[in-house]
Amino acid sequence: MGHLVRCISEDGTLLIMACDTTDVVQKAYEIHGTSKVCTAALGRLLTGGAMMGSMLKGKNDTLTLKINGGGPAGSVIAVADSMCRVKGYIVDGNVELPLNEKGKLDVGGAVGTNGFLTVIKDLGLSEPYVGQVPIVSGEIAEDITSYFAASEQTPTVCGLGVLVAQDKSVLKAGGFLIQLLPTAENDTIDKVEHDIAGIHSVTKMLTDGLTPAEICKAVLPSFSIEVLDESHPVYQCDCSRERVQNALIAAGKDELLDMAKDDDTQVTCQFCNRVYHFSSHDILQLLKSSQSDES
Ligand SMILES: [Zn+2]
Repeated sequence: MGHLVRCISEDGTLLIMACDTTDVVQKAYEIHGTSKVCTAALGRLLTGGAMMGSMLKGKNDTLTLKINGGGPAGSVIAVADSMCRVKGYIVDGNVELPLNEKGKLDVGGAVGTNGFLTVIKDLGLSEPYVGQVPIVSGEIAEDITSYFAASEQTPTVCGLGVLVAQDKSVLKAGGFLIQLLPTAENDTIDKVEHDIAGIHSVTKMLTDGLTPAEICKAVLPSFSIEVLDESHPVYQCDCSRERVQNALIAAGKDELLDMAKDDDTQVTCQFCNRVYHFSSHDILQLLKSSQSDES
């Protein structure tokens, strides 16, 4: 189970949260069997998703982050809800790339920069909220920062990190996110900039044994901060046979008739790899129920 802590500065001008998502990203690696760089890309997006999910207000609200930069790993998707349950996948998760010039996993190279970060918030209204920004670096934290600045007009600093072992398991993963509230003065911004100029990477802080609350304090030493709340991000897929059936019905009559020719239609959940089997009888039943719905 991950650990996420949200804090507010004593003067009420900024919010900061930090999280340890090592278990969440390790679970994603176990499900998807991703290469190191793809585990880092997916892990960073899942971590960003967990933090953004924690800002959702409604119990049933969900958030989808999709980054499609045209890189060799293809699109990366993360879905989170307000309870910090996250799930995700990366289209070509086996892509390996040499380390970048800083000696780090080349997440930006795997994701690519020719495309968009799209944020979809389903807040239970008739239409979901959709925000989109051009990809800055494909390194994900910068792209999330850019999204908040452009789409939500909220000055934000985001840090994300995933440390992968030689055997591809996840040693550490986590992140932090700072948001300036509208009441923040210019000197608050200067103080934040001064503070973050001197910080270590998230994975270094986690490796040094810092808890998320301690990371919040280490990132902003000039501020006095207090903990607002805590939650526990988990990797959890909410797929079910019923949901898959609804997706099949939505595919349409022709598609269903085509599937009915096959004695065993298999549908694999992209988020958890669970396989659902449908006999041609099952498919014909779906077809029938979809037609009776129409009449
Ligand atoms: Zn699933």
